[in-house]
Amino acid sequence: MSNFFTKLFGKKTALAVAANDDRLYQRQQQVIQLREMIGETITLYNSVSCVCAFPRLRQIAGIDCIDYRKAFYVTETEYFIDALKPFFKIEPVESARGNSDDWTCLKCGSTWVYQWEDFSISVSRTVLKIKELKAQDAGPAGEKPIPLFIGLGGHGFPDYSEMTPVAFDTFKNYMQKL
Ligand SMILES: [Zn+2]
Repeated sequence: MSNFFTKLFGKKTALAVAANDDRLYQRQQQVIQLREMIGETITLYNSVSCVCAFPRLRQIAGIDCIDYRKAFYVTETEYFIDALKPFFKIEPVESARGNSDDWTCLKCGSTWVYQWEDFSISVSRTVLKIKELKAQDAGPAGEKPIPLFIGLGGHGFPDYSEMTPVAFDTFKNYMQKL
């Protein structure tokens, strides 16, 4: 802890600042860990079939806060969708609600719908839902509650029976199980 903060804010506040720095650092490490794991997972999926063939990927990418009548985002959903972009042909479509793109898998031709909209400065909705599946399932079905490593942000969360926080390895095993 720096003397500077202790002098400036007193000992208690300096401790709080240090704790906050630790949390930020920890979160940054978690984000790096998650992004690496997502890259590995997509490589694994593509080595077996294609990303469309994995029900758990479809589950995570398709988490939509509107289905729960809440305003939250899921870090895993956002990062997976982001990492999937290179494997699709992406075309914008007119949509009554928010913004929408049609995604077509470059490998199997499955079609997906990508939608995004901002709810507030801190919460936006990003979702990728399968429209027409053309690949055969190559992984196990999704489970409930959905395990999440970094998990949720926003206003109002779904029940723990829907989604639950888990350790990194648990989430990794869930996503990489063949
Ligand atoms: Zn595909």
